Amino acid sequence: MTAAPLYQRVALIGLGLIGSSLARAMRRGQLASHIAGHARSERTRSKSMELGFVDSVHADAAAAVAGADLVVVCTPLGTYAAIGAAIGPHLKAGATLSDVGSVKQAVIRDLGPHVPEHVHFVPGHPIAGTEHSGPESGFAELFQGRWCILTPPAGADAAAIERLAELWRRCGSLIEIMEAAHHDQVLAITSHLPHLIAYCIVGTVTGVEEATQKEVIKFSASGFRDFTRIAASDPTMWRDVFLNNREAVLEMLGRFSEDLAALQRNIRWGEGDKLAELFTRTRAIRRGIIEAKQA
Ligand code: NAP
Repeated sequence: MTAAPLYQRVALIGLGLIGSSLARAMRRGQLASHIAGHARSERTRSKSMELGFVDSVHADAAAAVAGADLVVVCTPLGTYAAIGAAIGPHLKAGATLSDVGSVKQAVIRDLGPHVPEHVHFVPGHPIAGTEHSGPESGFAELFQGRWCILTPPAGADAAAIERLAELWRRCGSLIEIMEAAHHDQVLAITSHLPHLIAYCIVGTVTGVEEATQKEVIKFSASGFRDFTRIAASDPTMWRDVFLNNREAVLEMLGRFSEDLAALQRNIRWGEGDKLAELFTRTRAIRRGIIEAKQA
């Protein structure tokens, strides 16, 4: 016997990697009776219908959220304020408004003012992704075994939080509840800084002369290749992440710059023991990630 759907109508605003993966996972688990979708372009809307992970698509975001019990915003962070203004007045009484954005304080700042009193606001962030974008790139298993962090504001409705948590659990996720400010600090270390470093290293290559560039591609398996996967991530999404988590990222970048300068000094002065000590510690971190099944 299959369990009853958790929500009757779910509206997804944004049907790219994350929105379409969530739709596919909801379909697989029969978690919603109707999945309505909105995306900016006609191409994405018709592709989403063709791929079959939504029941209806709407050129107008307000029409997509009308009557929905759950609305999940799955667009780049820079679009949130305008989307909030467009959908806010059309949210159903008792509905839950959530999102998947990679920064959480900015979401509360941009969406929060548009959330009517009668709507439960429970921001979220699935810690899962790939370097691909668009409706074709999603898959139902994306969230399997991955954390989803929920950052409900103080006083948020416990039943609404639990229902959303259950949706993510049934999509395969593990749930953690966190304060938005803490989320932004943790993610600045675990996600935003590594992306910035990858963008920087790969960017450095575009500055070298053409002959060297060819060799970089040819011999990339020696390390460079692994950075290029991260640096191929969506430019709009990542621009918005850095602009919206500015303080936490700058704080981590300051620490990183100091550590890099220390390494530079170790190499210059031949301090091999210090290098080996660091590389031994970093190896242990990798083992910990494998043991936690997050590799
Ligand atoms: P994506 O694949 O590029 O998809 C973005 C979607 O948003 C597309 O359907 C796009 O429509 C739509 N969109 C963009 N601007 C819009 C606007 N002004 N109005 C309506 N729709 C608009 O991006 P994604 O990777 O799914 O990322 C979406 C969100 O998830 C971001 O906030 C990101 O921080 C978060 N996130 C991403 C990852 C990751 O690894 N990618 C992981 C966790 C969380 P069109 O196709 O028509 O342009």
